[in-house]
Amino acid sequence: MVYSAQCSVVSEEAKKDPDQPPAATQKSQPGSVDNEKNEVLDPISWGYDLYPERRGEKYKPSWKNILFRGEGKETFDKLSCEENVYYCVKNSPLVKLMLGALKSSGCAVNLRRHIACEVCDPSVSGGYDPLLNQVVICQNVARSKGMVQGVLTHEMIHMFDYCRNNLDFKNLDHLACTEIRAANLTHCSFLSAWHQGDASPFRVQQQHQECVKTKAMQSVLAVRSVTEEQARAAVNRVFSRCYADLEPIGRRIRRNSTDMHRAYLEAPFYGYD
Ligand SMILES: [Zn+2]
Repeated sequence: MVYSAQCSVVSEEAKKDPDQPPAATQKSQPGSVDNEKNEVLDPISWGYDLYPERRGEKYKPSWKNILFRGEGKETFDKLSCEENVYYCVKNSPLVKLMLGALKSSGCAVNLRRHIACEVCDPSVSGGYDPLLNQVVICQNVARSKGMVQGVLTHEMIHMFDYCRNNLDFKNLDHLACTEIRAANLTHCSFLSAWHQGDASPFRVQQQHQECVKTKAMQSVLAVRSVTEEQARAAVNRVFSRCYADLEPIGRRIRRNSTDMHRAYLEAPFYGYD
């Protein structure tokens, strides 16, 4: 499989009122995060190393990368990423549905404040940073409208869970649950087929469940230093409950179907606008 990019939950902090921008509206400095509980956040075990710009660093491509991988055009990438975000916000039924659901839940999204295009480690395509309540789109990885739509929807499911469901990202079961929901509602159906290119349609329920389990496990492993066994156990512990929870999209999006549009049209019936 070509597609290896993962989403990850960037960091964790005590839940903040989403309407109150965090005290630090600037990029967080994980080393100096004032942590009421006096816990030292290890940047690596919390996935911060995957998002160098989250630490206030400017991404600097090495000579080797400039020569061989064509990097060194971050400004262009950022603009193009922001254009794709804007396009999805205007045109993607899924993204619009998530934005409406967040708004109705009291966590309205302001594009400038809550969505950031950044250069990330090439192993991740996006992330959700609960410390700043921000979705990160990895501009060097998610380069197409389709991928940006996938990342936005996936990360906004984490944002929704954080807003609505009292999520504690330090709790492995909670993390597994929100990753199961994100994989279930997006990656293992319509979106995966769209941007992985090589995905076979997961029509059979068994296959769909396996896909969700695998994807959720990979997402947990991408940012937490736990063993595969621990990640699998957490996913299995919460699977049936979290797999059945289809809020706020209301249905699994099947490939090549009108589900995505139907979900958006029906959203008002569930109280989302
Ligand atoms: Zn995720």
